[in-house]
Amino acid sequence: MVRKLIAGNWKMNGLQADLAQVDRVVEGLEGAHAEADIALCAPATLLSEMAKRAAGSRLLLGGQSCHPAGSGAYTGDISAPMLKDAGASYVIVGHSERREAHAERSTYVQEQAYAALDAGLVPIICIGENYNERQRGETNRVNERVLLKSMPYPNNQHESVNFVVAYEPKWAIGTGETPTLDEIKSAHGHLREILIEHQGTVGESIQLLYGGSLKPANAVDILSVDNVNGGLIGGASLKADDFLAIYGATAS
Ligand code: PEP
Repeated sequence: MVRKLIAGNWKMNGLQADLAQVDRVVEGLEGAHAEADIALCAPATLLSEMAKRAAGSRLLLGGQSCHPAGSGAYTGDISAPMLKDAGASYVIVGHSERREAHAERSTYVQEQAYAALDAGLVPIICIGENYNERQRGETNRVNERVLLKSMPYPNNQHESVNFVVAYEPKWAIGTGETPTLDEIKSAHGHLREILIEHQGTVGESIQLLYGGSLKPANAVDILSVDNVNGGLIGGASLKADDFLAIYGATAS
């Protein structure tokens, strides 16, 4: 049984005033079950303060992207060691919004994943097909191609590599649309096979998250699908009560 992870992605949202939501998540976790991991991937400007507020709680933190280099002349970028230093345990890489708006290709995403691992962070590697690819029945083909190019050690070269994969159909992100449960089951089953084929036994325990319009109303159903080991949540992670309700849906 793979332990579940509920990871929020605040994207470019969050000012100091919104830290009250973090306090509320921390408070809510005190009375909640402890069967799953929970993390908020926040804007880098908030991470240090969030880390103070989350100290001693089960809430972990993450960044939303990192540069492949540890430091250097890269104006405006942030490195994995900086995120670690600010209190992060995770970093999202390859989110479709970065792949599209910043032209980040899978080879770059793989470099980011290696940088994250070197810094002691767990990369959350995002993949997923767009609407036209889905219409053409190419979901599994796209997922396989993108995952193999984006993940670290794709040829079973590492005994204990620790990363997370988030399957996020692009057309489901922020739209209120989701694939059917059978479609999610099929995509995640296929991804599990690829992980086992290319990562050996490690591939059996890599957390496979579903992302795309996950919310309290559909969380129990989606999080119960085979090989769905948690969720990556955008919009619904901004409100502590919604985020906690999704976390609550991981109870067995
Ligand atoms: C995301 O951007 O990773 C995401 C899943 O967004 P939303 O939950 O808002 O669809």
